[in-house]
Amino acid sequence: MSKKIIIVGSGNAALSAGIASLEKGAEVTIYEKANKKMAGGNTKYTAGAMRFSYESGDQLIDLLNNPNDERLKDTDFGSYTQEKFKNDLLNFNDGRPLSWEQEILVSKSLETIQWLSSHDVKFEPIYSRQSFIKEGKHIFWGGLTLASENEGVGLFNQELSAFLSLGGKIFYENAVTDLFFEDNVVKGIYIGDDKIESDGVILASGGFEANDDLRKSFIGANWLKAKVRGTPYNTGDGLKMALDIGAIKHGLYDGCHATPMDLHMKNYGGLDLEPKERKNYRKICYFLGIMVNAKGLRFLDEGKNFRNYTYAQYGRQVLEQPGHFAWQIFDSKVFDLLYEEYRFHDAHFVEGETIDELISKMDGIDKIETKKTIVEYNNSVDLNTAFDPTILDGKSTLDLSIKKSNWAQRIDKSPFRAFPVTGGITFTYGGLKINKNGSVLDIHNKPIVGLYACGELVGGVFFNGYPGGSGLTSGAVFGRIAGYGATK
Ligand SMILES: Cc1cc2nc3c(=O)[nH]c(=O)nc-3n(C[C@H](O)[C@H](O)[C@H](O)COP(=O)(O)OP(=O)(O)OC[C@H]3O[C@@H](n4cnc5c(N)ncnc54)[C@H](O)[C@@H]3O)c2cc1C
Repeated sequence: MSKKIIIVGSGNAALSAGIASLEKGAEVTIYEKANKKMAGGNTKYTAGAMRFSYESGDQLIDLLNNPNDERLKDTDFGSYTQEKFKNDLLNFNDGRPLSWEQEILVSKSLETIQWLSSHDVKFEPIYSRQSFIKEGKHIFWGGLTLASENEGVGLFNQELSAFLSLGGKIFYENAVTDLFFEDNVVKGIYIGDDKIESDGVILASGGFEANDDLRKSFIGANWLKAKVRGTPYNTGDGLKMALDIGAIKHGLYDGCHATPMDLHMKNYGGLDLEPKERKNYRKICYFLGIMVNAKGLRFLDEGKNFRNYTYAQYGRQVLEQPGHFAWQIFDSKVFDLLYEEYRFHDAHFVEGETIDELISKMDGIDKIETKKTIVEYNNSVDLNTAFDPTILDGKSTLDLSIKKSNWAQRIDKSPFRAFPVTGGITFTYGGLKINKNGSVLDIHNKPIVGLYACGELVGGVFFNGYPGGSGLTSGAVFGRIAGYGATK
């Protein structure tokens, strides 16, 4: 008789788990808290970018929806070896060795993307945000090359269609409220008073980023001020249910992915907008200019590394500034390089023909100090090194206490623009501990029979930061593992 598997949530991790369980002949049902429009959780809000290791660009061609794209002839994808992926993760580990979860993420990243592709999930190169044109060639600079066709919504639609065509079922507006736990075994779920029995329950209900109380108690009071970038439904339900029956906490509970966001955006990225538009509230081209806080001072190295390796940390740094905001300042030399999010119809910014006019329009800052900061920055820029956004160009400031290490150009070409930003929380890093089958472990490190977890709920994957595009890959890798594990 086929196994009956219940999955809680309908994002990328849940659907990957569902497809894997269905492949093994199980009868799979997804219960999703949101309605049909809002189902798909944070996954639908994403750009669909997925990081994975590859030895050469040739390995990417089979994954593409359009392998005959004319631009491919003039594209250099470079390579992104497992070694490089591991080093990128290690750079955020604050001295910790690679965790078991990180080893799995890296070693299974390519095969999992190929597996998704075998289920007709197709990808496209991220020309607009991950490459720059140099000598007529599209050069990919950050190890992150592909996104799902039609971004996060496309990923959700393609995965859902694979899930349904294999026979999976999905029920919307069905929030799972508890686990049916008896004789130390998880035997199903509760939806309110209704008990639904199963042979395995896979929690894929996301992190606790949309829960004010949990954010405050685990990450800190500042985080009540953070904008919530994604779905309002990831309120830590699955995490609480698992901890209540004795699961062990795992990973960095005060760690989270947080990004500079438009100061005036609404929470949940503007629920009235299409998911594709919602991500336009992000503002991550700080590396092309400078950021100043309310005191008119720079507070971080805007050009420390490629933005894939800084954007998930810099949201926290902005949030920690006085008043929890900052201004990003650019001159017209870089306007064409700014991502489309800076031209979004609801992007907030001020413009001036002169620096003085610009500063006069920037609310909430010390205007005298801001002018001083810009003058000192301009005077400190290395004028002998060429600006090149495709590499870490080493064009830095020369004598500032807070250096800008790369892409430091003078802010001197009129007109000038400044964008007000704050910190937006994307997802949380603390979660549950799983074993190689995706089983949730208890406080004695023993599997809780019948309970599995994947996606944002898995702890130990990210610590003090995050190389962009790793969240979706992690969801697919651990989703597939949990999906297979639950059918064993
Ligand atoms: C704006 C934004 C952009 C991002 N861009 C990228 C990117 O380009 N690349 C990348 O790798 N990562 C990106 N991320 C991170 C990425 O979204 C997550 O890592 C990933 O989607 C998490 O997948 P998941 O399946 O674990 O959770 P989710 O996709 O959030 O799914 C969780 C689901 O569980 C449901 N749920 C919650 N509680 C219950 C309950 N009690 N009962 C039933 N259902 C429940 C929720 O409604 C939701 O549908 C981005 C995140 C955001 C917010």
